[in-house]
Amino acid sequence: MLKLLCNSCQKEFALTENRVVCDCGGLLDLVQPLEELKKLDLKKTFDARLGSRALPDGSGVWRFRELLFPAKKIISKWEGNTRLYFSEKISQEIGAEIFFKHEGENPSGSFKDRGMTAAITAGASAGCRNFVCASTGNTSASLASYCANAGLNGIVIIPEGKIAFGKLSQALAFGAKVLQIKGNFDAAMQLVNELSRKFDPENPSESVYILNSVNPFRVEGQKTIVLEILQQLNWEAPDWIVLPAGNLGNTSAFGKAIAEAFALGLIAKKPRIAAVQAAGANPFFKYFQSGWTKFEAVEDPETVATAIKIGNPQSYLRAKRAIETTDGVVLEASENEILDAKATIDAAGIGCEPASACSLAGIRQLVKSGEIKKGQKVVGVLTGHLLKDPDTTIDYHLGKLANVEINKANRPIAIEANVDAFLSAIR
Ligand SMILES: [Zn+2]
Repeated sequence: MLKLLCNSCQKEFALTENRVVCDCGGLLDLVQPLEELKKLDLKKTFDARLGSRALPDGSGVWRFRELLFPAKKIISKWEGNTRLYFSEKISQEIGAEIFFKHEGENPSGSFKDRGMTAAITAGASAGCRNFVCASTGNTSASLASYCANAGLNGIVIIPEGKIAFGKLSQALAFGAKVLQIKGNFDAAMQLVNELSRKFDPENPSESVYILNSVNPFRVEGQKTIVLEILQQLNWEAPDWIVLPAGNLGNTSAFGKAIAEAFALGLIAKKPRIAAVQAAGANPFFKYFQSGWTKFEAVEDPETVATAIKIGNPQSYLRAKRAIETTDGVVLEASENEILDAKATIDAAGIGCEPASACSLAGIRQLVKSGEIKKGQKVVGVLTGHLLKDPDTTIDYHLGKLANVEINKANRPIAIEANVDAFLSAIR
């Protein structure tokens, strides 16, 4: 039987209890009934659904629904189905087979849509109508889009003070109710946690349902990034999957997906995970370096990779398990490494937001250290679309970023409006 298990006090909950967190404050994990699932021919089922013109089979998340959870009403925007790009140019530079899984090609422009369809489906199936998250970025965009599309109430809580409203533009446009509270982001999270404790299963339509990353159903949705990569590679696992790491939801989900796919015989070997943090927001890297002995939050994290600018990730224990079960590693990338990798991915015609470029920055480090070997198959995960953060891209190419090396700027060239000037400029 599918059940929820607290990863702190080991208390179990039935799915029907609609719990998001445990009474002890611990995070809940969905435990899949692997023995029952082994009886199914999942590869055949998943492959048969490819190319479907209807939901849920046509969704890149719900195509894998046997490995998620049963739902009364699926709220989907045909998420997933993102491309796996092989980059010849970057593969030649690196000396390995480099693919990029572009999660920025999801409906709201980031990987968050995969967890969102799963968690909103879980909430809506339980009768909830009010969905809330504390976020100033991609999560709020995704929540707002799904709620608007399904006729549900989307609510976003943001801290007071300096907010980059550019990142909130989607949430505002999609019509979510945006509440700016007095206090910082931690106060916003505290309010969300308090709301989750007030959840009344007897009266779900009046309660608010929490969609922050503590929600266990989001992890289940995000697992499908890995499942889709495996399917796109004909169920032949790559040697490495390298991803940016901030709040560690994806790292956790990837570890769970790989462990389950391996246990179910969908793949013959486990790919190794490399989780790459920005050096200015690196608590998980330091935890790994300490031999998992000491986890300390980073106060005032700072990085150009805003999507992973997180000092106190909630899912670090889940993510530790993911690194351990896949013989993985945790790396950190400097601002220069991130921006240089971004310029390389952009110039390959693929493009991504700054945080996503941690994947290539990490791949380069692993090649240099000899951990990625010649000819190995490596998938870098890009979590957000190039247009999520146009300011950084423009500032980079116009040379307006302070304190970073700019080696790959593509500056506009001013010319006279005549053919000779044109020809001499393109030579
Ligand atoms: Zn507990």
